[in-house]
Amino acid sequence: MNIGLFGGTFDPVHRGHVALARAAMEQCKLHRIYFVPPSLPPHKQRQPLSPFVHRFAMLALATAQEKAFVPSLLEAPEEGAAGLRRERQEKPNYTIDTVRRLKQSLKASDQLFLLIGMDAFADVAQWHQAEALFRECEFIVAGRPGYSLADVANALPESLRPRPEVTKPFHKQPATGDLVLPGATIHLLGDLHQPASATAIRAAVAAGKPLGRFVDAAVAEYIRKMGLYESSKAAGR
Ligand code: ATP
Repeated sequence: MNIGLFGGTFDPVHRGHVALARAAMEQCKLHRIYFVPPSLPPHKQRQPLSPFVHRFAMLALATAQEKAFVPSLLEAPEEGAAGLRRERQEKPNYTIDTVRRLKQSLKASDQLFLLIGMDAFADVAQWHQAEALFRECEFIVAGRPGYSLADVANALPESLRPRPEVTKPFHKQPATGDLVLPGATIHLLGDLHQPASATAIRAAVAAGKPLGRFVDAAVAEYIRKMGLYESSKAAGR
């Protein structure tokens, strides 16, 4: 089976995320995609994040209609002594740890793919054990406007990055197709033309604007019911 792992803060999940997952499923023939919200993301220190439980609930709503999309508890807060989930966690959720944990439940013949947008992929060289991550799984990268194949290649950890004379012609090439290098395989989805962003959604809620073009009705209703993003106080942070 081809399994996708899609990490993100998902605060909230939106149509851009779903479009990325659908395009990845189609292009790489994925059988299942785990959407994995972290309790403590290492790459994004925007604070305060909405509590894990809200981000997970919105993911469950947004993925409910698609059998292959699974909201995942792989990076849920750890259990405290009283059996309660602790929200204040010290150690960030590193993707390499999650990948290794997920692999323990997969067959050796299963192939794992990491789904990611180009803006997040641009920082991948700084990730914890980045080279190991490329050994453990193939990447599926969604382009964003203005990014070329050279940006993808140059974002790789140094030991995996092709030499400048190799990547020079990449500057004029859009980020589509497959990039297969020693130690890294990257499938490129091109630009999905989905301008949604969680930042824009949080701003829209704060400004009292409708959310219909960014998120499913069920997610918009959840945001409204729980008072998320209206103000830090109303969001229960
Ligand atoms: P924020 O606005 O808070 O930075 P975000 O909208 O980028 O959030 P994340 O949860 O941080 O959402 O993103 C998870 C992953 O989805 C990242 O890899 C990101 O690049 C990708 N992504 C987010 N929005 C889009 C989009 N509109 N089209 C394609 N990929 C996207």
